[in-house]
Amino acid sequence: MTNKNDTHLLVMTDRDGTLIRDVPYLSRLSDVEFLPGVIDTIRKLNDLGIPVCVITNQSGVARGYFSEEFVQETHRYMNALLSREGASIDRFFYCPHLARSSDARYNVDCLCRKPNPGLLLSALESFSADPSRAMMVGDAIRDVEAASSAGVKGYLISGGQSPQNPVLPETGYTEVVSFPEAVNRFLLDLGIIKF
Ligand SMILES: [Mg+2]
Ligand SMILES: [Zn+2]
Repeated sequence: MTNKNDTHLLVMTDRDGTLIRDVPYLSRLSDVEFLPGVIDTIRKLNDLGIPVCVITNQSGVARGYFSEEFVQETHRYMNALLSREGASIDRFFYCPHLARSSDARYNVDCLCRKPNPGLLLSALESFSADPSRAMMVGDAIRDVEAASSAGVKGYLISGGQSPQNPVLPETGYTEVVSFPEAVNRFLLDLGIIKF
């Protein structure tokens, strides 16, 4: 077991296709469904005192598919489902932007849309985390590109690659099959848990 007050560790994770079933531009709460093992893994991190942050692109806002309020409502709903199982996500960071959006509020070529590292850097700062003791997991190349740019360990859930995103060998990520596997590898690598 690690020190519960250790503030230098941080787990950052993509949302869609990583924590919950991938539904393109998810716009109904009834479509929220946690993937196998995810809730148990989040509870384990909670018990270890390791903060868990969601890092998610939600360009559906800029595209006019759903509102920013809906994104926030979805995150409250996810935590309501988790709380029934004694688990919780510490904070949600999302990017609602898209360059060339017809909605002027969201027409921003921002630094927070993955593969840019803006949201990861905000999370690291918010939780006073040490990048060498932080991770980012996701099912798209842009998730691990963002991890690399932020200087944290990247884990790619294989099978989730988008064909328009070429694999960059210099990105230096680890391939995994799931969020639970990524977290277990991270905790093993840091010696937080043992085989
Ligand atoms: Mg995803
Ligand atoms: Zn943004």
